[in-house]
Amino acid sequence: KSASPATISAAKVQISRSKVSKNELRRIFSLAKPESWRLTGAILLLFVSSSISMAVPFALGKVIDLIYTTDTATMNSNINMVCGILLAIFTIGGICNFGRVYLMNMASQRITRNLREKVFRSIMIQETAFFDHNKTGELVNRLSTDTSVVSACVTTNISDGLRSLIMIGTGVSMMVYLSPILALVSLCVVPPVMIIAVFYGRYIRRMTTKTQDALADATQVAEERIGNIRTVKTFNKEEAEIKKYQEKMATVLDLASRQSLAMGLFYGMTGFSGNAIALIVLYTGGVMVSDNSLTVGSLASFLLYAAYIGVSISGISSFYTELNKGLGASTRLWELMDRQPVIPYSGGLIPPRDASGEIEFKSVSFSYPNRPEHLVLDDMNLYLKPGTVTAIVGSSGSGKTTLSYLLLGLHRPKTGAISLDSFRIEDLNVSWLRGAIGTVSQEPVLFSGTIRDNVLYGAPDGVQVGDDQVFEALKEANAFKFVTSDLPHGLDTFVGERGIMLSGGQKQRIAIARALIKNPQILLLDEATSALDAESEHLVHEALEKIMKGRTVLTIAHRLSTIKNADQIAVLDQGKVAEIGTYDTLMASELGVFRNLIKHQAFQQT
Ligand code: ADP
Ligand code: MG
Repeated sequence: KSASPATISAAKVQISRSKVSKNELRRIFSLAKPESWRLTGAILLLFVSSSISMAVPFALGKVIDLIYTTDTATMNSNINMVCGILLAIFTIGGICNFGRVYLMNMASQRITRNLREKVFRSIMIQETAFFDHNKTGELVNRLSTDTSVVSACVTTNISDGLRSLIMIGTGVSMMVYLSPILALVSLCVVPPVMIIAVFYGRYIRRMTTKTQDALADATQVAEERIGNIRTVKTFNKEEAEIKKYQEKMATVLDLASRQSLAMGLFYGMTGFSGNAIALIVLYTGGVMVSDNSLTVGSLASFLLYAAYIGVSISGISSFYTELNKGLGASTRLWELMDRQPVIPYSGGLIPPRDASGEIEFKSVSFSYPNRPEHLVLDDMNLYLKPGTVTAIVGSSGSGKTTLSYLLLGLHRPKTGAISLDSFRIEDLNVSWLRGAIGTVSQEPVLFSGTIRDNVLYGAPDGVQVGDDQVFEALKEANAFKFVTSDLPHGLDTFVGERGIMLSGGQKQRIAIARALIKNPQILLLDEATSALDAESEHLVHEALEKIMKGRTVLTIAHRLSTIKNADQIAVLDQGKVAEIGTYDTLMASELGVFRNLIKHQAFQQT
């Protein structure tokens, strides 16, 4: 690619790997706000269930001391009582755990949903150029993975972290209560483990970002290839694509294996530390029991507390890891969600009347943001009188399609202005502008759904359109007959993903009906160059001729008859309108740009 890195980074959403600020923390936790009652409930239940868990070692120690000290009869009744009480408490604990897990997960799922809705919206409203820079796979990854990582971070992760904290807090207190000396001896292992956990957490955060990026890269390849499987197969590229995907996955695996190594080391070490505490307690405690300064029951309780704390410390460190993952993912989400589209999505002028269709391009210059040095249009001028047909001709790559994008406000001119009914189109509300223009593109894309869904896709939101209007549009588009008599379920026939179940000509005519359903004053046609069969060709052509009547039409013409019938022909060359006039005047002109084009470019003769 020849684009300079500076321009790409300007438009691309940057992934920053800087340190986390307080604001970022505040922002990620603000996501949990709407779920506050669920989360509060879950946390209350968490307190209850954790307290119960933490009472177990103490109770067990008491049972052991009972067994050791009393006579058989008292011992039996004591054991019965203690076990009865414990059973009741465990039951309550079980119920609390159920409630906690349910509420937490519900909160997490709901936060994920809200986030996904917002992120999807942020993606949808970006201007077209944004998508030249941001890969589909990357965006889809943010939508599906990052959102759930972030919501888990502020719900289940917080809950697990809190539980570990509670367990450590009570565990330490109980240990100190049971034997201050033993507590002091065993807890000296904790600080070094904590320090290592902090470094480990940072490392994991960095690695996660990298892994996610690599994964997005792989997803991108998979998505594009699966979506265009016919092209892959036509060129016998299955094995090549499999290999390419394997290479991408190798990068992911490489990163993941480094992460696994770190994880293994960390968990091995924390596990060892936990056991080391137990060993120290066993040794020191054994000595204390032998000189009667500690009961066997207390030692047993103490050991269990130590084990609980060992588990909780690894719980805290995985909490820290998840928090870091969540923060990494959230940074990427904020950048996307905060991005204001360069072309505003809402607002702008809504003229009181329908457009009359007077269009003017005044000294318009344009280059695509990723190739700023290449001026596609250079000081171009063109005037379209309402109700007339203007044919745009020019060699391939001369900027014809680009011209239509600019008229639709999908991109903005660098300099100069385009006006519709004497309003600058960048001042106009984009929905209004695009609502006034019916578009049939060169290779129309249909969406999966029925014929009716696809035709109605052209209708403005919230406007009720009946089947009779759909049929009307289909008739105008020469599609009525095939829809009603050739398709198995008429309007209710599913067209498959991207309309794959229809022929090229059928798809084109459905697309024409889709453009007509809103009865636009302006038509923007990119004539099909793809070789349709003669029959479809004729039907498409006839439909286009019909719908041009009475509208302002800008047609990118590939067909001699369209050119001959047009009110004016504009010849695009070197980013400018090199010649303009009717077919006869242009054929007779001195300059001969048009004549040359006609001679060298194969216009369809029909
Ligand atoms: P035409 O429709 O006349 O064949 P286009 O308007 O599609 O030509 O393209 C005009 C020029 O703009 C070409 O040189 C093409 O390479 C370039 N171009 C088109 N789309 C993009 C894009 N998204 N990013 C960068 N350059 C583009
Ligand atoms: Mg084109």
